[in-house]
Amino acid sequence: MKLKNILTILLVLTTSIVCFGFTDKNSKDKTAPKKIETVDFSHIKITDSFWSPRLKNHVTFTLPVCIDQIENKTGRIQNFENAAKKSGGHSGIFYDDSDVYKALEGIAYSLINNPNSELEKKADEWIDKFAAAQESDGYINTFYTITGIHKRWTNMDKHEMYCAGHMIEAAVAYYKATGKRKLLDVSIRMADHMMNEFGPDKRHWVPGHEEIELALVKLYEVTNEEKYLDFAYWLLEERGYGHGSKGTEGTWNPIYYQDEMPVRDLSNINGHAVRAMYLFCGMADVAALKNDTGYIEALNRLWNDVVLTKMYLTGGIGSSRHNEGFTKPYDLPNYDAYCETCASVGMVFWNSRMNQLTGDSKYIDVLERSMYNGALAGVSLKGDSFFYVNPLASHGDHHRKEWYGTACCPSQVSRFLPSIGNYIYGTSKDAVWVNLYIGNKAEIKTGEKTFTLHQETNYPWDGNVTLTVESLDKPLKKEFRLRIPDWCKKYTVSVNGKPVTDLHTEKGYLAINRKWKEGDKITLAMNMPVEIEQADPHVKENVGKRAIQRGPLVYCVEETDNPSFDELTLSSTTKFNETFNSSLLNGVTTIEAITDNKNIKFIPYYAWDNREAGRMKVWIDYNE
Ligand SMILES: [Zn+2]
Repeated sequence: MKLKNILTILLVLTTSIVCFGFTDKNSKDKTAPKKIETVDFSHIKITDSFWSPRLKNHVTFTLPVCIDQIENKTGRIQNFENAAKKSGGHSGIFYDDSDVYKALEGIAYSLINNPNSELEKKADEWIDKFAAAQESDGYINTFYTITGIHKRWTNMDKHEMYCAGHMIEAAVAYYKATGKRKLLDVSIRMADHMMNEFGPDKRHWVPGHEEIELALVKLYEVTNEEKYLDFAYWLLEERGYGHGSKGTEGTWNPIYYQDEMPVRDLSNINGHAVRAMYLFCGMADVAALKNDTGYIEALNRLWNDVVLTKMYLTGGIGSSRHNEGFTKPYDLPNYDAYCETCASVGMVFWNSRMNQLTGDSKYIDVLERSMYNGALAGVSLKGDSFFYVNPLASHGDHHRKEWYGTACCPSQVSRFLPSIGNYIYGTSKDAVWVNLYIGNKAEIKTGEKTFTLHQETNYPWDGNVTLTVESLDKPLKKEFRLRIPDWCKKYTVSVNGKPVTDLHTEKGYLAINRKWKEGDKITLAMNMPVEIEQADPHVKENVGKRAIQRGPLVYCVEETDNPSFDELTLSSTTKFNETFNSSLLNGVTTIEAITDNKNIKFIPYYAWDNREAGRMKVWIDYNE
């Protein structure tokens, strides 16, 4: 059975999936790890009708909400001002600096494709305040500067490196967006300060919340200073030797912090979900640059564990509120599902990296699932309110808010939305990889040649995609690899109107190899019927229930559309009608289930809780 089919089944979670003897050939590949380079979103202009309105709302609502909260409604900028003048108190929580950096990263990404002098001015203003709050030895963290600098670096769970990591990410983003390096220089001084304190012949350190590792790789990539990559590697290698429990005031639960064993030995995903995602991203980044196949093997084991036994249909992960993370396999409650928005975004980050390492589309299948469902539900259609927690059923009392005491999710959304273009294409020596179907114009550089790839589609509402090669001066011999999503069971492809008959896929990609000319057109038509999904019987809550999925979108029912909410039942004879309704929820395809009893109206899960408050569920009673 092909991996693709296994994946389909694991998401449908039918019978004993874990018995398939899942092996992944990739982990045994000892050649250079990174097979694909992503096409950076700065070369991509999204032009579709699904994401474009989201990106507009990001500038109009998401960023202003974040800026207002950061500056006016909470004291996050005041903290930097107080740290600079070394007077006044610290307000909020010790990790609050990170939200400011993430919102700045969101501003930077937004500026790349939509220059905006007002936003840029705001960013410069913030950066001046950050720089002023930096200690003379490079250290920067408003909590410790204000509450007692002598206590810095005494508690591994106080997020000093986590905040530094988010600052570095923002700095790299802003440098790429504007060429301005003030924050990059602040970041370099902080990184050098950390390396003066910690290292192979210095103090041990295990960051209680991972993030710094992937950020240091970004700093390495922009500075070409190998020492930052080496420091990231060293920090990863520090985990699992008991250093963490010696360096904290409270109780250090090694499992919660992914510190229970050396990271290359990990097989089961445990502990805090967002921490795990950031750790795995850091491991993937370092593995790619250091050719550490042990890391890649560990990541494959961890991926199987989470995707086969600990992931929701929505691509959400981390089922428990208690540890914001993982419990035992198949423990996937619906009402109490935690599924932090940041964890779903983390799945996108991590799976993108796994795809680059392996050239396997199974990672994009999961990326797409998390992106269109678990992550996208985390922000209202308007872009001005956010979910921290994304359950699969609600008693009617769960609603998005403008901000949270711990505001990681709103600031996460602010940087995720403007960078989604990153996940559409990849390139390798011989091929152009088409991973996501989103209408856009992309400038693709491959070898010496640059051309425009124009993608037109109404995805995710239907599966028809046209790719046109534009601005190509001379014919180009190249393989185009089109991802055939795991949900797609039937499709046709033609080039310039001529059907492609060899529909052979490799690792989920259909390869078309030819000499491309200006104006060449690939037409991909994917059937997108309504599918009934069944959970693995190990998932107790979903026994006797089914869910609805169409294309990449998981559907749900809301009470407002279904007054007899408690009586909804699907059966094997249920028929489905699909209707695109342009005036509902910014335009969605609704699904009506025609049953013997009450008809059921479904809307996409991402769009729930955008109307009057009411109950919601994804999994529906089913009569055999
Ligand atoms: Zn979060």
